[in-house]
Amino acid sequence: MRKLNTIVVFCGSSLGFHPIYKEAAIALGNYFVKHQIGLVYGGGKIGMMGVLSSTILEQNGEVIGVIPKLLEKEEVIHTDVEEMIVCKTMSERKVLMSKLVDGYITLPGGFGTLDELFEALTLSQLQIEQKPIGLLNVNGFFDAILLQLDKMVAESYLKQANRNMLLVADSVTALMDQMHNYVAPEISPIIHKVVS
Ligand code: AMP
Repeated sequence: MRKLNTIVVFCGSSLGFHPIYKEAAIALGNYFVKHQIGLVYGGGKIGMMGVLSSTILEQNGEVIGVIPKLLEKEEVIHTDVEEMIVCKTMSERKVLMSKLVDGYITLPGGFGTLDELFEALTLSQLQIEQKPIGLLNVNGFFDAILLQLDKMVAESYLKQANRNMLLVADSVTALMDQMHNYVAPEISPIIHKVVS
């Protein structure tokens, strides 16, 4: 079983309409506290990001925020997060986040959330990283994206093995079980030479 000490969660700076999304952020936060998993996230106090981080902070769990300078406005940065890393750019933020964690989880969100998810998948596809990447498909929120991924496989733009890197579940415990049991594909010798 894979040890997951720290996980980065990508999620919306909005909360969404249905309370089920907020409940999912709370459930994930509670799971992290219960299993002593540290959270790395975007550093905001708004939307899903705020609910998730506050759930963990209220129970004295570990939270690290990574926020680019341009987003560091008083009204959106989460001032209760003691470990706040302020970086220069959005791209630098993604690199920093990936260095700090053992895995990735995506909750419902918008463009920013999907950008971060697909960057993690691309790193994995190129075998630059071998960390589990989970998608919490609350309320079927990501169904259309999953269909698109299947279309990409059917039309030969995406390898089935790479499609399978994305772990999907509709409950926190089912997703975390998959993350703990994730076995990354073997690194090809050529890639190994390039990244090492
Ligand atoms: P979205 O899924 O489009 O809501 O984007 C989630 C993204 O919100 C994050 O990756 C950030 O780029 C962006 N964001 C907006 N406000 C903040 C904030 N206060 N703190 C951190 N990230 C923020």
